[in-house]
Amino acid sequence: MTDCLFCKMVSGEIAPDKVFENNDVLAFRDINPQAPTHVLAIPKQHVPSLNHADDASLLGGLLLFARDVARAEGLGDAGYRVVVNTNAGAGQTVFHIHAHVLGGRALTWPPG
Ligand code: 5GP
Ligand code: ZN
Repeated sequence: MTDCLFCKMVSGEIAPDKVFENNDVLAFRDINPQAPTHVLAIPKQHVPSLNHADDASLLGGLLLFARDVARAEGLGDAGYRVVVNTNAGAGQTVFHIHAHVLGGRALTWPPG
C-alpha cells in the first residue's frame, strides 16, 4: 500500500526508530510513547486491522515477536502489555495492524 505510513517504514521510505526486525515483522519505537517502553510491532505484510486478519501464522508470529521485544526490553519479569487497537472506537489511527508493547511503569486495569 503506497499511502500507508507503516508500509513506508517497511520499505524504508520513512526511517523508523527501529528496535528489531526479521523477514516477516518489524519493531520500532512509538513517536508518542505512553510508557517508558512503547514499541510497535508490525507485520511487513499490509493487513489493515485485526478484523481483516485471517493468517494464523502471521498473527502468531506477531504475538511471539511482541513477546520477544518485551523480553529484550527487560520487561519479561516485571510485566508488560500487548495491545491491538481495532477500529476507531478502540483508538486505532493507523490502519496497518500493529501490536503496542507497553511497559516500564505500572499499567492500570481496566484500560481507558
Ligand atoms: P493506534 O492508535 O492505531 O493503535 O496506534 C498508532 C500508533 O502509531 C500511535 O501510538 C502513534 O503514536 C504511532 N505513530 C503515528 N505516527 C507515527 C510515526 O510517524 N512514527 C512512529 N514511530 N509512530 C507513529
Ligand atoms: Zn501498510
